[in-house]
Amino acid sequence: MGGGPGGYEAALVASQLGARVQVVERQGMGGSAVLTDVVPSKTLIATAEWLTVTEQAGELGIGADGGPDGDPGALRADMDIVDQRVMRLAQKQSKDIRARLEKEGIEIVAGTGRVGPTISAEGTRLVHVELADGGERELVAEIILVATGATPRVLPTARPDGERILTWAQMYNLTQIPEHLVVVGSGVTGAEFAGAYNALGARVTLVSSRDRVLPGEDENAAELIEGVFRRRGMTVLSRSRAAAVRRTGDGVEVELADGRVVEASHCLVAVGGVPATASLGLEEAGVELSESGHIKVDRVSRTRAFRIYAAGDCTGVLPLASVAAMQGRIAMWHALGDAVAPLDLSTVAANIFTAPEIATIGVTQKQIESGEVDGAITRLPVARNPRAKMLGIKEGFIKLFSERSSGVVIGGVIVAPRASELIYPITIAVAHRLTVDQLANVFTIYPSLTGSISEAARTLHLA
Ligand SMILES: Cc1cc2nc3c(=O)[nH]c(=O)nc-3n(C[C@H](O)[C@H](O)[C@H](O)COP(=O)(O)OP(=O)(O)OC[C@H]3O[C@@H](n4cnc5c(N)ncnc54)[C@H](O)[C@@H]3O)c2cc1C
Repeated sequence: MGGGPGGYEAALVASQLGARVQVVERQGMGGSAVLTDVVPSKTLIATAEWLTVTEQAGELGIGADGGPDGDPGALRADMDIVDQRVMRLAQKQSKDIRARLEKEGIEIVAGTGRVGPTISAEGTRLVHVELADGGERELVAEIILVATGATPRVLPTARPDGERILTWAQMYNLTQIPEHLVVVGSGVTGAEFAGAYNALGARVTLVSSRDRVLPGEDENAAELIEGVFRRRGMTVLSRSRAAAVRRTGDGVEVELADGRVVEASHCLVAVGGVPATASLGLEEAGVELSESGHIKVDRVSRTRAFRIYAAGDCTGVLPLASVAAMQGRIAMWHALGDAVAPLDLSTVAANIFTAPEIATIGVTQKQIESGEVDGAITRLPVARNPRAKMLGIKEGFIKLFSERSSGVVIGGVIVAPRASELIYPITIAVAHRLTVDQLANVFTIYPSLTGSISEAARTLHLA
């Protein structure tokens, strides 16, 4: 149930292992990841990224009129074209996933599923489906995977209207760049959208209830991004909790808990998600839910109910598409008797698509500084790297953490353009327990940003 990364990746594994597979999906293949979350947001951010790159244009001798004095600020994004591209790309990706599944003989059932409460004498359960085109259908299942994802959290005092007060899924209806966008919530989603719209030319105010943006992330990285946001003209209201968001004539007013009111044209409320686990018949079937409504699973994606597995955002394990997909695959390997290793979150790389990007893997600096992990820390500024100088990159750093006893690489943070790509060698090192010397003693391209990763590893040689 659910055709997002948790569901469709599981379906592919189950089909490969010889099972007959049906995927029940109510929205479209690829799920929210493809239709409203990852794919649309990263496509929008791609446009914003190109615009940010133009910040360096003057320095690199590029001007809008072909001369070095040209004004790169003259470049602008056409929101109509951008949003059409976003939606086209999401639909295309969804179609490609559907075609791939159908090619493998997987049946896609368009509708909303619910698990039946009882197990038959043969050990099967029914899944009731309200079909999208009317009518109902009952599927007989030996194994059920629940991968129904999550939906944006709605605050009762800030109800989205889809026009001015928006969830992240509604941002692509805008045909023009908002005059003034208030983003409520400075977690990953809030920070990514605030950064992107700022780069696209909107006036942006980011309302953050904490001391700084991106709470819980590497402190230096978060500080750097907040500095970049402010330098690019964004207003960041720290320690400011939004109490209510109201629609005014042709705009919104955001009331803060301390009584201040911010007037703007649009407001994006990005305060996290809630698991889509209500009305699925889960508790009646013996599946245990947490207080927050997440499905409790073990490391091979088993729930408390016989042969019901769960994967992805509905489990609350780690809300990433890559983790959802891995949980789904693990569930099927386990359920169908293939070799399986339990989920290991210590090797999950994560990225925040701000400009510059922030990529992380493994242990955190906090864990080392608190003594929880006996590790050594090194940090190199990206600006010192020769390729970075050539490209006009001045902000960012590479951090590497190693285990003191063994020299094994146990984590890292990269803040740089395309950090999402650069983190890969460190991820391999962490996953396969390579030492800093092993990471350092390979050739990197000269000049390249990866040169700084090997340099960071070299500085930890005697640590
Ligand atoms: C704005 C945003 C940006 C993000 N960017 C990234 C990123 O860059 N990288 C990353 O790794 N993660 C990112 N994430 C997180 C990522 O989107 C989720 O972790 C991922 O979508 C989880 O996959 P899933 O399969 O659990 O659920 P989903 O992708 O949510 O799919 C679940 C599907 O199940 C369907 N469904 C629900 N109930 C039923 C039912 N009863 N019957 C049938 N179908 C049902 C839903 O309609 C949905 O289509 C982002 C999230 C957001 C909000």
